[in-house]
Amino acid sequence: QFPFGRRLPCDIYWHGVSFHDNNIFSGQVNKFPGMMETVRKITLSRAMRTMQDLFPLEYNFYPRSWILPEELPLFVAEVRVMKDSDPSWKPTFIVKPDGGCQGDGIYLIKDPGDIRLTGSIQSRPAVVQEYICKPLLVDKLKFDIRLYVLLKSLEPLEIYIAKDGLSRFCTEPYQEPTLKNLHQVFMHLTNYSLNIHSENFIHSDSVNTGSKRTFSSILCRLSSRGADVKKLWSDIISLVIKTIIALTPELKVYYQSDIPAGKPGPTCFQILGFDILLMKNLKPMLLEVNANPSMRIEHEQELSPGVFENVPSPVDEEVKVAVIRDTLRLVDPQKKKRKDPQMSFKVPSKPTLSMILCHRCPGLEHVPESGESRPEAAGARSPEAALPSLCLKQVFPKYSKQFNYLRLVDRVAALFIRFLGVRGTTKLGPTGFRTFIRNCKLSNSSFSMAAVDILYIDITRRWNSMGIDHKESGMCLQAFVEAFFCLAQRKYKSVPLHEQVLSLLQLCECHLAALDEKRLLWGCG
Ligand code: ADP
Repeated sequence: QFPFGRRLPCDIYWHGVSFHDNNIFSGQVNKFPGMMETVRKITLSRAMRTMQDLFPLEYNFYPRSWILPEELPLFVAEVRVMKDSDPSWKPTFIVKPDGGCQGDGIYLIKDPGDIRLTGSIQSRPAVVQEYICKPLLVDKLKFDIRLYVLLKSLEPLEIYIAKDGLSRFCTEPYQEPTLKNLHQVFMHLTNYSLNIHSENFIHSDSVNTGSKRTFSSILCRLSSRGADVKKLWSDIISLVIKTIIALTPELKVYYQSDIPAGKPGPTCFQILGFDILLMKNLKPMLLEVNANPSMRIEHEQELSPGVFENVPSPVDEEVKVAVIRDTLRLVDPQKKKRKDPQMSFKVPSKPTLSMILCHRCPGLEHVPESGESRPEAAGARSPEAALPSLCLKQVFPKYSKQFNYLRLVDRVAALFIRFLGVRGTTKLGPTGFRTFIRNCKLSNSSFSMAAVDILYIDITRRWNSMGIDHKESGMCLQAFVEAFFCLAQRKYKSVPLHEQVLSLLQLCECHLAALDEKRLLWGCG
């Protein structure tokens, strides 16, 4: 606890909203700087688009999206081309205001001309997205999955996924979208906050019935119908890792700005809520990522007209308590010390989190499931032994070999951060960009420094006119990524984009390594 006036630092800070809730200089904070900005609908769509440009097949789990208002003409033109090439294509689109949540302001359209342009689009940008028309139905109802993911560390990247999640159901039987049913939110939108107002909403004491169920209960049902549940889980794990790989470049820029390397500062971890929709063919599709997923384990019930009471929700409790408990176990600073051989002879002076968790939750002292590995148990007599096996499964670095080839933008971001220069900034100035070009030896007779300046001005002006962040002037990471792709395309023609980018990265990294070596030698000499 951090009572007002406390001077001593804490091991763990549990902020309600963002990293900046308090000024923290040590310990661990449960939020990353910039996470809320990074997972907003528009920023997420941009990050996914960049990855889709590089790896179209690997990133086909995110619906095709356009950003409004700036990409409205592109949206109209692309839909026209697709319709012309396939007249049987009868798409539906979903328009979602940026920064919205709980289904707020969302509507479906059949034609780009139906976008509501009056007033709000200009003042409130939005994402328009292909609507997934054929979701998997259970009891004739559409549902989505809320999965909890722990981003335990950014550098090195460590990701954990909760073994169970929530399934949130619509409350009207699903029909494919038609002009007649487009506005029926209880049929098309799975948000709990909307469906709770339907008279068909069922609060249930059981985890496998009602309008909110555990994901494991759905998996059991699918498995009994012969579905390949193992493949589904592995697709979900892959979706989560790829999404986080798309988000890390931006997060690293925020991180170095708020917690500069070499300065004392906290480390961060964060529980994220992934919203996933299963298609009829069981392919998982990402809808969105929530930086502050609700951890409530109660719901409001209307006892009599106008009289509400908070009552426990067994489904929420089953899933969420385990996620928070195990997040605390994984970031337990005392456990780190126990693991460290140099510290192992020291008896912890403070109670460990495991001790506290056991003490607070006596019901947890049950025998672990047979066959479950207990990698975190520090020994038979450890307080960990009294806790259930971890519900959080490590997926990265465990599966890093399979996914590391996707981390190209991460490497572009490392170049960007190297040339940022001033500490605490997130934007690259013209001098920094010129130094990058010079140090990586990218200018030559056919690409003069004057052309470099024009490239910088063109791209930076366009990104800044999109009005995302007026606080600082200069080139943001996404603009730098665009410039980098542009340079790669110029230099390495007629190979796929990811190969062009990889070649340019290798060239830049090679020149910079040589430069670092030279500087080291000069330093010694
Ligand atoms: P919010 O943050 O407002 O909840 P979401 O992106 O989660 O916004 O969308 C709200 C709901 O709309 C989702 O829970 C889902 O049921 C539905 N939805 C969103 N995007 C799509 C899509 N591309 N295809 C089908 N349904 C979607």
